[in-house]
Order: sequence, then structure tokens, then C-alpha cells
Amino acid sequence: KEEFSRGALRTKTVEDILTPLKDCFMLPSTAVLDFSTMSEIMQSGYTRVPVYEEERSNIIEILYVKDLALVDPDDYTPMTTITKFYNHPLHFVFNDTKLDAMLEEFKKGNSHMAIVQRVNNEGEGDPFYEVLGLVTLEDVIEEIIKSEILDE
Ligand code: ADP
Repeated sequence: KEEFSRGALRTKTVEDILTPLKDCFMLPSTAVLDFSTMSEIMQSGYTRVPVYEEERSNIIEILYVKDLALVDPDDYTPMTTITKFYNHPLHFVFNDTKLDAMLEEFKKGNSHMAIVQRVNNEGEGDPFYEVLGLVTLEDVIEEIIKSEILDE
């Protein structure tokens, strides 16, 4: 029984369980932390918000909702003032990372969120890193629970 559920962790990859980029709640680095932006963040319900530059595929920083505790919306604080201050590490993983390896990574680090990228060598030009979405510890745990229920 245990072998089977571990099996799913060994064979499935982060690409199988990620939240696609188009569904990610993110903000541009040019955002200003005014009342409207802060409300939007609170209403999203997420605890971490990737911050991108120019295009959504170019994630450069991450904002934790708790970073907003001392931000006064009337100050119109630029997003980058806060992200540069807290400077949370951003973790990238490749799409073919197996779930057991991802779980180990999450256990080692303290971020519990990773940006999933792949090498895109389909077109004519040079291969490039393409961001596919994000994966969190929650997604991996959900997969573990699913496979354990299937095993019963
Ligand atoms: P949270 O603490 O913000 O709820 P979790 O790590 O518990 O985040 O993840 C819950 C689900 O939400 C997972 O499927 C994860 O991929 C997804 N998720 C986390 N952050 C975001 C975000 N900023 N935008 C879209 N989906 C997200």
C-alpha cells in the first residue's frame, strides 16, 4: 500500500499538478500599494503573490501578504519598495521535477512555493526558459492524500 502511494510521488511531476500561469494571481512590479491594490490582494485570498516585470512570464520577486502589515495605503508605497525590503527568495524548478524530489526541496527550504519552468526548444530560435506556472507544498500534499485514498 505504502509502496503504491510513494509510486505516484516518484512518477508524477510538478507539471502534472501546477497552477498554470494564466490562473496565477500576480501583480506587476510597477504596482502601487494603494487602497485598491491592497484590497485586490486581500480579496485574492492567497498568501503569496508573484511579482512580474513587463510580462507575466517574467516573475522577478514575490510578495507575502504578511509583508503588508506595516504598509499604509495612504502612503502609496511602490510595490518594489516592499519586495526589495523583504527580498524573499524565489525558487525555480524544472517541469520534469518528480514530486518526491519537490517534497524534499520544500522540506529543506522555507518558501514552500516554486516557479515551474521548462526549456522551450520548439521554435526556430534559441531555446529559452518558459514559465509554466507555480507549485506549492499544498499541491504536493494534495497529491499524496489523493493517492493514499485511492490505495484504501
Ligand atoms: P495559499 O496559502 O495562498 O492558499 P497554498 O500554498 O495553500 O496557498 O496553495 C493553495 C493552492 O493555490 C495551490 O493549488 C497553489 O498552487 C495555488 N496558489 C498559491 N498561490 C497562488 C497565486 N498567487 N495565484 C494562483 N494560485 C495560487
